Amino acid sequence: RIAYVNGRFQRHDLAAVHIEDRGFQFADAIYEVWAVRKGELLDAEGHFDRLDRSLGELRIAHPVTRAALTIVIRELIRRNRIGDGLVYLQISRGRARRDHGFPPPGTRPTLVLTTKRLDLDAVAGRAAQGVSVISVPDQRWARCDIKTVNLLPNTLAKQAARDAGAYEAWQVDADGFVTEGTSSNAWILTADGALVTRPADHAILHGITRATLIRVATSAGYRLEERPFTIAEALEAREAFLTSATNFVMPVTRIDGRPVANGEPGSVSAELRQAYLAAV
Ligand code: PMP
Repeated sequence: RIAYVNGRFQRHDLAAVHIEDRGFQFADAIYEVWAVRKGELLDAEGHFDRLDRSLGELRIAHPVTRAALTIVIRELIRRNRIGDGLVYLQISRGRARRDHGFPPPGTRPTLVLTTKRLDLDAVAGRAAQGVSVISVPDQRWARCDIKTVNLLPNTLAKQAARDAGAYEAWQVDADGFVTEGTSSNAWILTADGALVTRPADHAILHGITRATLIRVATSAGYRLEERPFTIAEALEAREAFLTSATNFVMPVTRIDGRPVANGEPGSVSAELRQAYLAAV
């Protein structure tokens, strides 16, 4: 396996960043994930656009142009012979003596790229079954719209889900509304046929899959309500599902051990999953 670190393709098991990297010390770094299908990036531009936005919000200089980055990513996919999988990118503010304030201008950001193979048949199998989620209090910071590696609350929530035998944790804000999953956005289909997902505010990551599915679903004639919903409302819903770059549209059939509708994956989730895959 090959990784890319600051301009060099390296053996993955030897690839390293410095102990005084801002990402390691302060989570002063952003990341991005693209799904790869048949060797091609899915929804590539949306993820590049979000990457630019994340960097801008943290005032980290872009280490390379989009064109150069695209070439490097393609080369990494080729070297690792990724058919189906994902590309992970991380950019930190770079290496500097530990000090909370930003390092001196000219400090070179750290750029890291890795790939991972994914068994998309297994993902499809999971989608046919549906997944369980648990609800947990949202303990994250106030700018979850920036895709930073500040992910400790997300990891604790995901582990809580695993410990409970569930696939994902839906985080709930202080007012009782679902924000999102630990690495996915949350949706329901109401009894009267509206698709509901939280607005893309500061409380959630603006999922690229979410944005694409909004376009796909509205052009397929679905009514969209961008508003927060509660766990109680989700349990009353006709269907529930989550979206992310690597899950696409994943039906949620149980929440906190209780079934959503009849506990089976719904037809709209399945239809939207196909429509999403066709679109990307
Ligand atoms: N929310 C969070 C917190 C995430 O980490 C992710 C995946 N990175 C998502 C939502 C889904 O975003 P996307 O559709 O762009 O993968």
